[in-house]
Amino acid sequence: MTLNLQRTDLIRAGHLIDGRWCGEATFDVTNPADGSRVGRVPDGTPADATAAVAAAHAAFVQWRARPAKERAALVESWHDAVMAHQDDLGRLISREQGKPLAEGRGEVAYAASYIHWFAGQAVRSNGEVIPSPVSGKRLLALREPVGVVAVVTPWNFPAAMNARKIAPALAAGCTVVAKPAEDTPLTALALAFLAEEAGLPPGVLNVVTASRANTPGVVGAWLADDRVRKVSFTGSTPVGVHLARESAGTLKKLSLELGGNAPFIVFDDADLDAAVEGMMQAKFRNGGQTCVCPNRVYVHAAVHDAYVEKLAARVRALKVGPASDPEAQIGPMINARAADKVERHVQDALAQGARIVVGGHRLDRGANWYAPTVLVDATPQMACACEETFGPVVPVTRFTDEAAVVAEANATPYGLAAYFYTQSPARIWRVAEALDCGIVGINEGALAAEAAPFGGVKHSGYGREGSVHGLDDYQHIKYLCQGGIV
Ligand code: NAP
Repeated sequence: MTLNLQRTDLIRAGHLIDGRWCGEATFDVTNPADGSRVGRVPDGTPADATAAVAAAHAAFVQWRARPAKERAALVESWHDAVMAHQDDLGRLISREQGKPLAEGRGEVAYAASYIHWFAGQAVRSNGEVIPSPVSGKRLLALREPVGVVAVVTPWNFPAAMNARKIAPALAAGCTVVAKPAEDTPLTALALAFLAEEAGLPPGVLNVVTASRANTPGVVGAWLADDRVRKVSFTGSTPVGVHLARESAGTLKKLSLELGGNAPFIVFDDADLDAAVEGMMQAKFRNGGQTCVCPNRVYVHAAVHDAYVEKLAARVRALKVGPASDPEAQIGPMINARAADKVERHVQDALAQGARIVVGGHRLDRGANWYAPTVLVDATPQMACACEETFGPVVPVTRFTDEAAVVAEANATPYGLAAYFYTQSPARIWRVAEALDCGIVGINEGALAAEAAPFGGVKHSGYGREGSVHGLDDYQHIKYLCQGGIV
């Protein structure tokens, strides 16, 4: 399957360390739709990781000293380069990650929106003049970059997850060492290539690729290195906990965007068509492989059957296919492990009494494909209610009582996103305030925006990406106290 890129040099085959493309490309990056090879990249080692830190550490001195306006201009040039190559990058994402081409292009625009946003924020990084409680002194607070930032990202949004971390780091005056996911390193390398072309100085952004086997060695070298002052991670909760433990020895600052288990509640006064539309957007984008995907769906008994019927009609009509099919609306799972997990969750639900309304089986297209699925009679004991399924399965549970459904929605260690549909203004406030999570969708299924704070609570992690708060995680505050003022 050909990629048909206008710029074939966007496909890189090396690490980017100190402005040089290096390393022998030894492992294949494949298209999850059919296993065909999309590219080949090097399998990083701790020595590569340490070389990247040395480059980032050396580059930090000059990068932090650049006026914020100059850094902002360079970050904005990177944004322009990314958008100028939206189609090529969208193709690359869809081939290495599997999402439909339209979603790949959409992800590029979404990633670029964060780059643009943080170019703007770079010049608004104001300090404070603090009224002194005693005479003869003046007190000030400055915002300063923390230093070298290690960025570790997952495969589900290979452009957006990197842009959302690298752009604020650069805007704040930090330098970066980044390790993309094994399944999707090519997009990260293409973004770095465009940043370089946009004029980013050598060493400011370094990318080291690694296989799943070598990843702990590469990231471990960063965790142990005192020159790395911050880790920004998006991925699963167990790996986030591991990174927090391992970076404790060098007391790094941490941002952890971890797993979710989002509830989606449809009350009896909801606009059912809007609630179906919201579910289609929130659940089936990227094949159900997003951290804010609804994972547990609660529908009031009075509207349960009508809602399920409307939803099932839409899910049945979804066109499944590879990114090369322009009509495809949903693609494969990222790999066979992911499809196995979806299958395990559905089998477990059926064994515990759930019923299939749509789907409920693997597809005859290869090991990575699973049919869009709707189940009813789901219960809190099922694996699909306790763990993040990360696939195209909607398990529906019937409820009758508002307080009980909110308590059930909160009965999880996770707290990233939650959704509910109602037309009652009082209930909107009651439920939004009672939900234990970082992000709430109210009569809305598409939540993310660069101007809004994205992040979770509890085992979904801490830190916020995007918004006016997004630079905070890449800065510390220095207090200046001047005395002797008479
Ligand atoms: P993952 O297995 O935790 O991997 C994420 C990243 O961590 C990858 O780069 C991975 O490298 C690396 N990694 C894995 N094991 C490691 C180790 N022992 N030491 C250091 N690094 C390690 O997660 P995933 O399966 O790629 O992504 C899915 C998860 O991400 C889901 O739980 C999802 O909810 C979460 N997510 C959260 C958000 C959010 O904003 N909260 C957004 C998107 C996704 P390899 O690829 O080489 O293994």
